[in-house]
Amino acid sequence: MSVTGGGSFGTSERPNSNRAARLSWWWFPGSPRQPARNPPQTSSSSAKKPPPRPDPSLVMRLAETRAALEQARGQLEAAEQALLDAQEQNHLLSTKLEAARMAAIEQARGDAPPSLLQVFRDRGVWGEVEVRQLWTALDERGALRELLGAITVAQSADLLEWLNEHTAILGDCPQCPDVGNRAVLRVPRSRCEICAGSDIRRTGRKFVDGFLSRGFTRFTVVGGSPKYHRQLHELIKHHRIRLRTVPGGSRRSRRQARDDIRGSDLVVVWGGTQLSHSTSEQYTSQADEGQVLVVPHRGISGMLEAVTVAINAV
Ligand SMILES: [Zn+2]
Repeated sequence: MSVTGGGSFGTSERPNSNRAARLSWWWFPGSPRQPARNPPQTSSSSAKKPPPRPDPSLVMRLAETRAALEQARGQLEAAEQALLDAQEQNHLLSTKLEAARMAAIEQARGDAPPSLLQVFRDRGVWGEVEVRQLWTALDERGALRELLGAITVAQSADLLEWLNEHTAILGDCPQCPDVGNRAVLRVPRSRCEICAGSDIRRTGRKFVDGFLSRGFTRFTVVGGSPKYHRQLHELIKHHRIRLRTVPGGSRRSRRQARDDIRGSDLVVVWGGTQLSHSTSEQYTSQADEGQVLVVPHRGISGMLEAVTVAINAV
């Protein structure tokens, strides 16, 4: 930078305005530029005097300051970059740590396949709130079906049992009983898992619920036609209930009847149906061996309703 070549500054051939324009680049950045046509004047009498020449030492200091500023700026940029690198490294290490933690957990679990929650965690989705957010976002994009289709379940029986315990599929039927705090899916009445749209199914379901809620599992019905028995088995089908039906006209010894009573949580003597007196008598005469209930109602619904009322009254 040539700072000493100011030989022409004092010449009178050039107008003041030109001189001011030539000098203006010496001024320190940030200082307000003087208007080219109105150079600073100390007084009206000095209007024709050239402005003072810049002090070369000042110019030198200015250049040094600029260089120092540039250097500082460079250092700042380097520091910012170093911070970004460190942050990225930190994130990388956190991810590796989480992956190592998950690997250790999976190793501890043996060969059991990871849960969906664990796979989500591997993906960087942590905690129930984040899982729910992502699930909703996937649903909004219409991607849930694909996701659910990609998942295979190792213990489907366990999962189904869990679903049975925590969910209910119900129709819009006000007479169907409450399902407690299970999650409810509303469907057309014909698909209601309690009544399937029919009163007799609802009655059967109420009986099953009442029976199991008393801690009963073994149920014996004495009397009724084979057709009734088939219907009964169909109605109160439940994996925990063992139903034994004794045809109304069958010959049952006293000992067999006693074993039936002792081996049941409840014996119903279904009096309104085909039932020979000799058969029913084997049970009613040994009622003190267990729980024996005589029900006079003829139809299945009436019988089950009467039994349910009796069970709930115990
Ligand atoms: Zn229903």
